[in-house]
Amino acid sequence: MTYVHETIVALQRSSPAQTEFYQAVEEILESLRAVLETEERYRRHAIIERIVEPERQIMFRVPWMDDHGNIHVNKGYRVEFNSALGPYKGGLRFHPNLNAGIIKFLGFEQVFKNALTGLPIGGGKGGANFDPKGRSDAEIMRFCQSFMNEMYRHVGPNTDVPAGDVGVGAREIGYLFGQYKRLTGRYEGVLTGKSLLWGGSLVRKEATGYGCVYFAQEMLANQGLELAGRDCLVSGGGNVAIYLIEKLYQCGARPLTCSDSTGTIHDPDGIKLETLKTLKEVEKVSLKNYVQRHVRAHFIPLDDYPEDGHAVWRIPGELAFPCATQNELTRADAEALVNNGCIAVSEGANMPSTPDAVDLLLDAKLLYGPGKAANAGGVATSQFEMAQNASMQRWTFEQVDTQLKAIMADIYARARDTAIKYEAPGNIVLGANIAGFTRVADAMIEQGLV
Ligand code: GLU
Repeated sequence: MTYVHETIVALQRSSPAQTEFYQAVEEILESLRAVLETEERYRRHAIIERIVEPERQIMFRVPWMDDHGNIHVNKGYRVEFNSALGPYKGGLRFHPNLNAGIIKFLGFEQVFKNALTGLPIGGGKGGANFDPKGRSDAEIMRFCQSFMNEMYRHVGPNTDVPAGDVGVGAREIGYLFGQYKRLTGRYEGVLTGKSLLWGGSLVRKEATGYGCVYFAQEMLANQGLELAGRDCLVSGGGNVAIYLIEKLYQCGARPLTCSDSTGTIHDPDGIKLETLKTLKEVEKVSLKNYVQRHVRAHFIPLDDYPEDGHAVWRIPGELAFPCATQNELTRADAEALVNNGCIAVSEGANMPSTPDAVDLLLDAKLLYGPGKAANAGGVATSQFEMAQNASMQRWTFEQVDTQLKAIMADIYARARDTAIKYEAPGNIVLGANIAGFTRVADAMIEQGLV
């Protein structure tokens, strides 16, 4: 069958230079072979051709002025990928290397992730090639206001509901919301990840990290194994990594590492959560400051990373949680994990493992939870926030956490059972891709050619 190749070639021609997007599409399409062979309706309705093309892509200029009166111009994006299952839903990323290909890969993944949650949400993603590092609060505010000056026309509680992602947290969501309200005069659930003071949901901040640990627990429990007592490797030092580490401690496991764009911390006594929170949430400084406070910890700067991968995956550990960014875990890293006795990988980031790393992990029979399943707790809790906003209710921490746990168990069970049905037991990538795809594709067929 050549449809995977044909689709990628067509995309390369129509949407050039979008490497990460081709990678995400190829991974999904490879998993769908068996379904497309047996379920003729997907081909008859041209679902593949339609599903790889976003319903709408908005690109816009974001001009803003820094504190010294200099003018800057960034590129803003909102890709509304698929609304078969509900309003477009997905985060905004502010990162200097962002481009259309990265936004499209994130949007494409989001469609399947959101479908997998079983909740009524479509998929979208957005952001800007803006570097928030070193920017003052006033600069961040002006940037967010300028970004919303364009985006407000396209979003709304029943059309498109953005949230945070890398570089966009509660502060940015606050400034974006304020500007939306000023422009439209409406106080409504147009964004998720809002402050708890005004419309946010309990557990949303923690949800991606907590959910990723719940997912790992499900994978382990299915083999009769436990999380407690195990050494864990975590990459990243943002919102996902911080609350994942918090949950690992609550489960009796031992997180030994974390990382940021300057390097990796290895603390053999276990990462000190309070120090990590202070450095990243309050002081917003590099992790290299960690070692001044904990002398037994090591800081491995970027320059000392292995040429073919990331320092964090070369440290021995039984469980690995990539929570930084795309393609941060290479085949050589995967090899090191396997050789060091790692038994499971649960992805907090979006597409953190390269395709050849995934192949190796699956061949080595590790428990492997791909991002679109393992990190879906964030967007699921965003949907809980939408539900609370729409009904003007507020759920308790326990209510949200219980539902989050149930959703993660459900996603795992659906991916596991779908993999068994398609004769690939244990292959959660295949199970997750097929389960997400069939839900979206069947909804598209029922809604006609739109
Ligand atoms: N950015 C997160 C993700 O990758 C959350 C999206 C949301 O809450 O809408 O799923």
